[in-house]
Amino acid sequence: MRRRVQGIAKDTLSFIMEACRDTMPREFAALLRAEDGIISDVLILPGTDSNERQASVKLYMLPNMQIVGSVHSHPNGVLRPSGPDLAFFSPTGSYHLIAGPPFDERSWACFDPSGNPRVLEILDVDLEDDIDGFLDEEGDF
Ligand SMILES: [Zn+2]
Repeated sequence: MRRRVQGIAKDTLSFIMEACRDTMPREFAALLRAEDGIISDVLILPGTDSNERQASVKLYMLPNMQIVGSVHSHPNGVLRPSGPDLAFFSPTGSYHLIAGPPFDERSWACFDPSGNPRVLEILDVDLEDDIDGFLDEEGDF
């Protein structure tokens, strides 16, 4: 059932921030999916520039996959979308996170597809069931 996005799971945000740190100095990029209105799935995209990212999005646009947004890092710490970012945002959902160093719970910002800041709550939820569902669904992708 599709529900309005209420926020992002705290564990998912921690996972993203760790991935951003691990990917430094390169840019980390992923698509976000929601379960029961909570952003809890991260689909990591290969490639580092926006063209590669757009190509990857097509690959991931499969039936049954509802993408609610995206996340990527700006290693330079500027928490604002660039021109290519905005082109990438519109076809990939309504919630777009940009993270910067030091990649902690506060070093990110969320934008709508037009690049306007939007509020995204951090929710402390148990994700175990969602992770199982994710693995079943993705299979051997
Ligand atoms: Zn960017």
